[in-house]
Amino acid sequence: MDPLRDERRLANRYIAGLLIIVLLIAGAGFLIDRLVRAEHNTAEIIELAGRQQMLSQRITQLAFRYALADNRQEAHSLHGRLSVAAREMRRTHETLLKSPPAPGYADAADTIYFDPPYRLDARVRRFLGAVRGLLDAFDRRGLDSPYLEHLRDREGTLLLQGLERVVERHVQQSQIAMDRLQWVLWGLFATILLIIALLGILIFRPAVARLMARTLELHREAGTDPLTGSQNRRGFFTWAEALHQRLRRGGDRCALLLLDIDYFKAINDAHGHEAGDRVLTQVVETCGRNLRQHDVLGRLGGEEFAILLPGSTARGGYGVAEKLRELIEDLEVEVAGDRRVNCTVSVGVAELKVEDETPADAVARADAALYRAKQAGRNRVIIAEEDEQD
Ligand code: GH3
Ligand code: MG
Ligand code: MG
Repeated sequence: MDPLRDERRLANRYIAGLLIIVLLIAGAGFLIDRLVRAEHNTAEIIELAGRQQMLSQRITQLAFRYALADNRQEAHSLHGRLSVAAREMRRTHETLLKSPPAPGYADAADTIYFDPPYRLDARVRRFLGAVRGLLDAFDRRGLDSPYLEHLRDREGTLLLQGLERVVERHVQQSQIAMDRLQWVLWGLFATILLIIALLGILIFRPAVARLMARTLELHREAGTDPLTGSQNRRGFFTWAEALHQRLRRGGDRCALLLLDIDYFKAINDAHGHEAGDRVLTQVVETCGRNLRQHDVLGRLGGEEFAILLPGSTARGGYGVAEKLRELIEDLEVEVAGDRRVNCTVSVGVAELKVEDETPADAVARADAALYRAKQAGRNRVIIAEEDEQD
């Protein structure tokens, strides 16, 4: 089984969540772009339709002045201006017919251009046709010209109204599109916020909690001896460093015991390695049961253990060591085949000193005392020489 399966699953969900956010943002961008383009288009159409209104009014005005002009030269000049305006109105009309209406507006546009009451297309053509006729009949111009009829009152008003409708419809359509855009944007915004919140609750929080738990576990494992569950050398020295620092800052005194099982090799030889392991665990259990919660027990290697007793002097440490030595002496370890194994320990006691450069200095003093205990016949406790007078 993949030990990192859960982590990988969390990472995948996280990436999926981010992808969804990216897609939503890209979708929003695309939508906004489309609507802005449509709006731009609508604005152009509105401007053109407004221009048509102006042109039609101007043409009507010019046509009447042209019809009334007595002076040939003035009539010529008006003729020119009228044809330019009419040409422009035709061009604009064609542009308006060709420009694609905003989505959903095609039918409405067609209705205004081709259906009653406005029939704007036919009306514009008739209007321009009348202007053409008026221009062609230069010598027969006059207020009685039949062409003027098409530019007058009712016709002119209907044309203006039709163009007005075009503008109105586009403005309306643009308003609807804007409202829709606003709703869509709020919807997207809310969805993105929701997804970010869900990512936080469902992915980030458990991921951080799991990471913390795993880090703590790894940290604990790195400092633990797998056989006995006590601190290992590394874990023990981390604690020793911390207590030494505290001592240097004026904190409590701290005793250090170095404890070695006597003739352990012989136990292994006589009862097997597994029996030896059981002895190691039982010794640790016995010590653990009889130490205070803040005392630190570590296995420095093989069958050698060290114990830190914060708040104890070397003398106090001696008392604790003596008690442990007796308890271990009385210990009967059951091993395979219903046999019982006894063992004893020798202990060297020292005290962490402010002058020590590192806790290893105190360990060396305790080791020297331990050596003397071994020399003196084992199963005994000896205090390091400099610590004896305390
Ligand atoms: P002394 O009284 O002088 O301390 O003698 P001793 O036999 O205890 O010391 P020695 O250093 O000669 O032997 C230690 C033995 O501990 C040798 C090694 O095989 C054994 N040992 C070290 N680690 C383990 C372990 O994890 N399990 C077991 N069963 N034996 C171990
Ligand atoms: Mg030994
Ligand atoms: Mg040893």
